[in-house]
Amino acid sequence: MSNIEQTLSIIKPDAVERNLQDQIKTEFKNKGFEIVKEKKLHISKDEAEKFYKVHESKPFYNDLCTYLSSGPIVVMILQKENAILDNRKFMGATNPQEAEVGTIRKKYGISIDKNSVHGSDNLENSKIEIDFFFKD
Ligand code: UDP
Ligand code: MG
Repeated sequence: MSNIEQTLSIIKPDAVERNLQDQIKTEFKNKGFEIVKEKKLHISKDEAEKFYKVHESKPFYNDLCTYLSSGPIVVMILQKENAILDNRKFMGATNPQEAEVGTIRKKYGISIDKNSVHGSDNLENSKIEIDFFFKD
């Protein structure tokens, strides 16, 4: 049975700053993801705090929100069969040093905070995150 899903992907400030967005988009396309919608934007810290509210109680929350709002990002809706889990696998571990060879974070990530990409972690969050950026 087919299970076409959509997931939210973000190319984070460290990658946009290094002008890697086209390369990373090509990586996703080569892996079979369709980029259904995309836009480049620079969010405020308030918006970053809303987006990452799930991490509110974490010690890294403030730095994370400062970072995500520190420069332009590219947000995309990615679509394919099993997009949510496949994107998580293709991104690699949160810490690029622990990410497997061939993953985006292994290739492009700098550190656990500057790890180049975000991806929704489950179906419910994918809908919330897609709405966050693309509800108009
Ligand atoms: N993060 C961090 N320090 C940590 C853990 C996470 O700076 O110790 C940042 C990192 O950029 C990560 C984001 O917070 O991508 C969200 O954390 P999560 O655990 O959801 O990781 P992800 O789902 O992005 O792999
Ligand atoms: Mg997460």
